[in-house]
Amino acid sequence: MTEIKDHELLIVGAGPAGLCAALYAGRSELDAVLLERGAPGGQLLLTELVDDYPGLEEVGGMEMARLMSEHAARFGVEATYADVEALERDEEGRFRARCADGTVYRAPAVVLTAGGTPRRLGIPGEEEFRGRGVSYCAICDGAFFRGQTIAVVGGGDSAVEEGEFLTRYAEKVHVIHRRDEFRAQAVVQERLFRNPKAEVTWNTVVEEIRGDASGVTSLALRDVHTDERSELDVTGVFIFIGFDPNTGILTEHVEHDAGGYLLTDRDMRTSIPGLFAAGDVRSQLVRQITTAVGDATTAVFAAEKYLVDLAEKAGSDEPGQPADSAPEEATAGAAPA
Ligand code: NAP
Repeated sequence: MTEIKDHELLIVGAGPAGLCAALYAGRSELDAVLLERGAPGGQLLLTELVDDYPGLEEVGGMEMARLMSEHAARFGVEATYADVEALERDEEGRFRARCADGTVYRAPAVVLTAGGTPRRLGIPGEEEFRGRGVSYCAICDGAFFRGQTIAVVGGGDSAVEEGEFLTRYAEKVHVIHRRDEFRAQAVVQERLFRNPKAEVTWNTVVEEIRGDASGVTSLALRDVHTDERSELDVTGVFIFIGFDPNTGILTEHVEHDAGGYLLTDRDMRTSIPGLFAAGDVRSQLVRQITTAVGDATTAVFAAEKYLVDLAEKAGSDEPGQPADSAPEEATAGAAPA
């Protein structure tokens, strides 16, 4: 049976952006619910150490996730387990987050902080050996490769940073990049170049991940300039070639950039009235914890203003509850089967 839960604001995704949105929503005494299908923390849970958050010189990713969750909870908003499958609008313009267990969370405004999912290479062997040598998370799986020779694919901050991190465990880390320069920040690159256990292979792509019953055994490589093919013996490969934004739950067209990231104005408004976006799901120059929490702060204040305007237009004092709305009746026909 469908259970409908009404709120003023839905926050979808409990990474740093979602947790910060929850904090500010709670602090503003909005009736907000923070929906998350996993543990709160998002990518913080995959990050060993954070050393670029002002005021916290070094903090573990998991510790930071715990601190942010507790901080939001102090203002009254805790993450609620919910696997949101679709985010749609009803005929009255209210959003409905339909969850896998049949629950529908309904509100006139949403802050979408759903982040992204690691991109796949899409080559033979990638799916077959996933979890048996193919990984997308250095912190989760690095320790399994103690003393071994492994590879990292990519040239952004994640590949270079995680490649360096993996030298703690692995005897040798080959960083394979398709161009002749990294796009990672200079300070991150320097750390990798200085590390004797790391070796960079430029202008090269991985065409196949090979293995046997024991897992990954080698990579088939191709030099993009000479077309020369070679085989590199490794027992693991970590793929860090970017993220795809988690926008698949949106059932309505919303303006986005070429990568699928949501376009917003400076107040985090998307092209759908009442839908705000913050953090990695949003189109922007960099995706950092600092930018995610900044986005989220703005998004909540903009959402609050939106709710007040909505209530004023409807002639009601109660934000988000237009006087002429009939929540229970509106529910009936629109509930999922
Ligand atoms: P990214 O910056 O988009 O980098 C992706 C890398 O993968 C690029 O080097 C790209 O090559 C390569 N690539 C993409 N598709 C490929 C393919 N099919 N085959 C081979 N290589 C491919 O992604 P990211 O490193 O995951 O970072 C995502 C965002 O998070 C960035 O904004 C980043 O700055 C941020 N971040 C920051 C930190 C930090 O500051 N501590 C840490 C992690 C992430 P090309 O360069 O040739 O395009």
